[in-house]
Amino acid sequence: MSGKHWPPGTQCVTKHDHTKPKAQELAFRKGDVVTIVEAVEGKGWYRARHNETGQEGLLVGRMLRQRGAIRVDPKLSLMPWFHGKISGAQAVQELQPPEDGLFLVRQSERHPGDYVLCVSRGGQVTHYRVRHEEGTLSIDSLHHFSNLIDMIEHYMKEQGALCTKLVKPKPKPGMKSAEKELAKAGWLMNLQHLTLGDRIGQGEFGDVLQGSYMGQKVAVKNIKCDVTAQAFLAETAAMTKVQHKNLVCLLGVILHNGLYIVMEFLSRGNLVNFLRTRGRALVPARQLLLFALDVAQGMDYLESKKLVHRDLAARNILISEENVAKVSDFGLARVNPKGTDGTLLPVKWTAPEALKHNKFSSKSDVWSYGILLWETFSFGRAPYPKLSLKEVTELLEQGYRMEPPEGCPPTVYALMRCCWEMEPGKRPSFKKLTEKLQKELKHLRGV
Ligand code: ADP
Ligand code: MG
Repeated sequence: MSGKHWPPGTQCVTKHDHTKPKAQELAFRKGDVVTIVEAVEGKGWYRARHNETGQEGLLVGRMLRQRGAIRVDPKLSLMPWFHGKISGAQAVQELQPPEDGLFLVRQSERHPGDYVLCVSRGGQVTHYRVRHEEGTLSIDSLHHFSNLIDMIEHYMKEQGALCTKLVKPKPKPGMKSAEKELAKAGWLMNLQHLTLGDRIGQGEFGDVLQGSYMGQKVAVKNIKCDVTAQAFLAETAAMTKVQHKNLVCLLGVILHNGLYIVMEFLSRGNLVNFLRTRGRALVPARQLLLFALDVAQGMDYLESKKLVHRDLAARNILISEENVAKVSDFGLARVNPKGTDGTLLPVKWTAPEALKHNKFSSKSDVWSYGILLWETFSFGRAPYPKLSLKEVTELLEQGYRMEPPEGCPPTVYALMRCCWEMEPGKRPSFKKLTEKLQKELKHLRGV
């Protein structure tokens, strides 16, 4: 354990209290989260920043442990206080013994679609109807909220029209608070330290904003809808399990405005835009190969963790200031429970067996990787130009495959073709792809 090395930017949890620091040392309590700034000269010492206080100081590496992974668990809830369809009388039962500010939310029986906020005060339970008003939720027609999470967050800070400020959520039996679990494992970040900036992208489920967290540049994905936010916990859980130089790093989450997913910021944006805006003149073939190798290495690691991406495409590859390519959006496809019609599937990237029989695997990721290679060597063109989704599906069945992009090295095109084998077992592994690309790079250096 003592030999563990913590690269800059890593978030770690402290194993012990250290409340009487010597000069230049960092003070912390057991379970605090710190960010590594750099390793310093000397045996296992680091400069680190305390995530809560923002202070910087020295500490010794063996005081640190890795943050625990969050397990995907359907009982893990962003809204543990949401009890669904229970009656008013049942709600009163649930709020026993009485405690001022103890609360829950239930679905209204009398007004389908509306909610009821039940709050205990002075031994009495008051039921507040939460109405839908033009796409928002409101109790008093004065304050409007886009979802229940925001509403509860608001009334935990301000009493407003209620009989008391909300103090303590009453969890639905069997439900675990995602907030508590995330905090315990060290993944919950503090809203106060976050400054939000410009919008840098639009995701399918919400905006991506640039921001800064205690001086570190970050990207923040905001999921506003509470049901989607709940589903996104699964993606976040997948991200807590992995750490690799070619995977976008999750820094943590904040439960505000739905859900904020805070990630490292990759200044050069996604691979499609990177290539389109620069083109052949500015990006040498060697750089294309390096990107392809980065992605293959990230995917090889994901495969080793038994994680299937399902949405591997150049738009989901992000580029760092140092031109390192990193895979993002893993686990996303699961958020969107697609039916068999597959209308929401990225058809042109998805392997035939995944499209037809919902058979997603690392081998279907390899198919998508072949498309990504094609996008890369065509400098960001959309695949199967001029073909409709239906035509693509039919032509693939008949054995048709895309032509090589202009100027693409034959060896690279050969790689694409073996990724597009109809039989998943015949496709190479990401490990094999990594080896072949490394060979290709050596060859390029040789000439
Ligand atoms: P979604 O998959 O939900 O549609 P993405 O995660 O792909 O959303 O993000 C949409 C866009 O936002 C990306 O294509 C990229 O341009 C930008 N973006 C997302 N995450 C980052 C990040 N960590 N750093 C820089 N830009 C990002
Ligand atoms: Mg995406």
